[in-house]
Amino acid sequence: MTSLLQTFSCLDDYDPNALPVERARALILDALTPVSGQQRTFIRQALDHILAADVISPVDVPAHDNSAMDGWAVRFDDLAPAGETRLKNIGTAFAGRAFDGKVGTGETVRIMTGAVLPEGVDAVVVQEIVRIEGDAVVIPPGQHREQNLRRRGEDLRAGSPAIHAGKLLRPAELGIIASLGIAEVSVCRPVRVALFSTGDELCSIGTPLFPGAVYDSNRYTLWGMLTRLGCDVIDMGVVKDDPAALETAFRKAAACADAIITTGGVSVGEADFIKQLMAQLGEVAFWKIAMKPGRPMAFGRIQPDGEKRPGTWLFGLPGNPVAVMVTFYQFVRPALLKLAGCNPAPVVPCLPARCVEPLKKGKGRTEFYRGILFQDKDEWCVRPTGAQGSGILKSMSEADCFIVLEPEREKVGAGETVNVQLMHGLV
Ligand code: AMP
Ligand code: MG
Repeated sequence: MTSLLQTFSCLDDYDPNALPVERARALILDALTPVSGQQRTFIRQALDHILAADVISPVDVPAHDNSAMDGWAVRFDDLAPAGETRLKNIGTAFAGRAFDGKVGTGETVRIMTGAVLPEGVDAVVVQEIVRIEGDAVVIPPGQHREQNLRRRGEDLRAGSPAIHAGKLLRPAELGIIASLGIAEVSVCRPVRVALFSTGDELCSIGTPLFPGAVYDSNRYTLWGMLTRLGCDVIDMGVVKDDPAALETAFRKAAACADAIITTGGVSVGEADFIKQLMAQLGEVAFWKIAMKPGRPMAFGRIQPDGEKRPGTWLFGLPGNPVAVMVTFYQFVRPALLKLAGCNPAPVVPCLPARCVEPLKKGKGRTEFYRGILFQDKDEWCVRPTGAQGSGILKSMSEADCFIVLEPEREKVGAGETVNVQLMHGLV
């Protein structure tokens, strides 16, 4: 197996002390391959899972030629090109109850949306423009052959893939699968993620705070983010900044998980033995990413048995609660989706909005302000949540977007356009 670190260090522009966000994300995604394993599941349980094998349509969709509108089924060649045409009404075709006969020259059938097209017709005229005069149905000029029809198989041919493997299954896909009469699909197995927090100052909820202690919140935000992604979470609790305890935790996590997420222990001021230990148990790169918050981050593989097993991916996130969330969303989320088999990777778009307050900006790094979007007349505007310290988790709770200030961007004046990344969406 090629060494990860060797691969990184061979890249021309690789600088572990100032890695751009996009570069770090790309390096991580390049290194990963999806985990193997799939399971059969009923449609409803497949929601939010990733499809493991193409769904092949067993039928043509639509299954029969039918009307797209309520109206009158006609033979186009019967219609006068310039003036009105009078046709004879010979019956009705309902959705689910077809008209049995054939439509002959000079005849028409009243037809409902979704009704099977009677033999002989090749256009539907919408009811709103048709006049009824006694027995006659009067069709105005200006109609087109094939108008308002849905032909058998025009959406999908039997035997062709309706949904490709790698697709994250949302409500629309459940509907498509059901529309094909399929009850069960193969989905990728969930990615198993072990997590623990490191820090002598950390206290688990349920125990009283000792002097200088803080409650461990990272395990809960991480649990939430991982659960939303559909991962199986193995919560290993708080691990003290102690080499033996950390080594045991890494070995235990590597034995049962596809990926390990730790928080704390990777910043400059941290005891070096944590980094040493991570490096000793596998191959781990320590990056200073050109971003704020979330500068220090470790990425690599934990392989306690040397080269014998491919190893478990490690994401060593900083300790500050906001930095944890920002680095998770920017790096770990796409990585876990790739591990889970999601293909293509979903991209959260950045959209322009007018920033109503001035923002400070450091040069050469990406900054992620927490923002609140609002509408001012026809325009979407954004303002930062109050204090932006990387320990202030309230800023994440109040925010509904990140204001993403690109590395080359300088300070933002009130009223300037910025890019925002939405935190939640419709589906
Ligand atoms: P570190 O990256 O370990 O130096 O931690 C940076 C800051 O984040 C320190 O103030 C820590 O107390 C705080 N911190 C680290 N881990 C956690 C955690 N799990 N929950 C809440 N705060 C934390
Ligand atoms: Mg620490």
